[in-house]
Amino acid sequence: MHHPSGTPDDDSGTLFGLDALTPGPATAAPVTDSSFRTSATARRLLPVREIYAEPAAAASPRGRQISARFPDAQVTMVDSHWRIPGLHGNEGNVERWVRVKGETLVLGEKKTLTTRPNGRSADWIAPGPSNGCAMACAYCYVPRRKGYANPITVFTNIDRIIAHLARHIARQGPKPEPNQCDPEAWVYDIGENGDCSVDALICDNTADLVHAFRQWPTAKASFATKFVNPDLLALDPRGRTRIRFSVMPPDDARLLDVRTSPVAERIGAAADFLDAGYEVHFNLSPVVVRPGWQDAWSELLVHLGDVLPQRVKRQAAAEVIMLTHNRELHEVNLGWHPRAEEALWRPGLQQAKRSENGALNIRYRNGVKAEAVHTLRALIDHHAPWLRVRYAF
Ligand code: SF4
Repeated sequence: MHHPSGTPDDDSGTLFGLDALTPGPATAAPVTDSSFRTSATARRLLPVREIYAEPAAAASPRGRQISARFPDAQVTMVDSHWRIPGLHGNEGNVERWVRVKGETLVLGEKKTLTTRPNGRSADWIAPGPSNGCAMACAYCYVPRRKGYANPITVFTNIDRIIAHLARHIARQGPKPEPNQCDPEAWVYDIGENGDCSVDALICDNTADLVHAFRQWPTAKASFATKFVNPDLLALDPRGRTRIRFSVMPPDDARLLDVRTSPVAERIGAAADFLDAGYEVHFNLSPVVVRPGWQDAWSELLVHLGDVLPQRVKRQAAAEVIMLTHNRELHEVNLGWHPRAEEALWRPGLQQAKRSENGALNIRYRNGVKAEAVHTLRALIDHHAPWLRVRYAF
């Protein structure tokens, strides 16, 4: 019987290590002059000027690779990637909220390697290759633990993360029965705390994970993204990575999804990613209840049906996720993007719940949420009957 384990992995008790699965070190697609990440567009998204680095992370092969990519950036050594005075925390950074995300990088080592059971989007949440994001969606909970104004921390010990995953996957054995995550493979979410497509602008962490998973026949990587990075098309995932393009009505995205690829571009990329060897799913998320939301989602579903080729539709599935928000983030957002809060902060429709870490999380009241989920499911049945809903909450 399978017993999920959320305890940290200390490298002990392993069945086999990475070497047993990977002939030679994981190699990424070479960065060439034609790579998207060397393009002017990518440099505009990530004009890195300062790098904070733990000494071991800076000295590691991945750390050196990243420093070499941004030779003009000023490098400052820090004891820990967790608390960098003047960078983390929200005070003083609200005005620089968006700039700091693109101009600053942090290099650290992931010390605690834990794979946690999930059961909704994925069977397992893997230790991610990063924490933080260069995009700035107004509802994003990803940067919560470092203060919301935080940029990407890249974890440079990707080899240890992959070795941890190899051991975890080996311990599970084959998946005993299908579930809504996947009929055959154990699904590992590799992007809980960032966006792997954006990480791939910085270094080969995403490539290394995609390459690792293609050698594990009982497992599949999965990550959600709001950014179309054409470099991922060259990674040859051989069906072992599920990319989940997050979509929402374009008017909502223009207001809320700051710095991301436009929704039409994400949808337009789906067939290319399928043809490149990815499984392509969609996150219908977050669903924001506002006047006219039903019509906006109907239009989006019709658009998906119009533009996606049959081969994408045949294998597609969706997650539906209602907006959750947070009082602290609400207050931060009022400092840099108050218009977003007109859509996100709806006390008449929402209820608060204190989470285990003490944060005050806000979600739609039970009745509002149940009705909205019911409505959206009915809209999908009507406008996009080909789209299987894996779960909605
Ligand atoms: S793309 Fe994802 S991780 Fe990045 S800011 Fe938006 S919601 Fe957060």
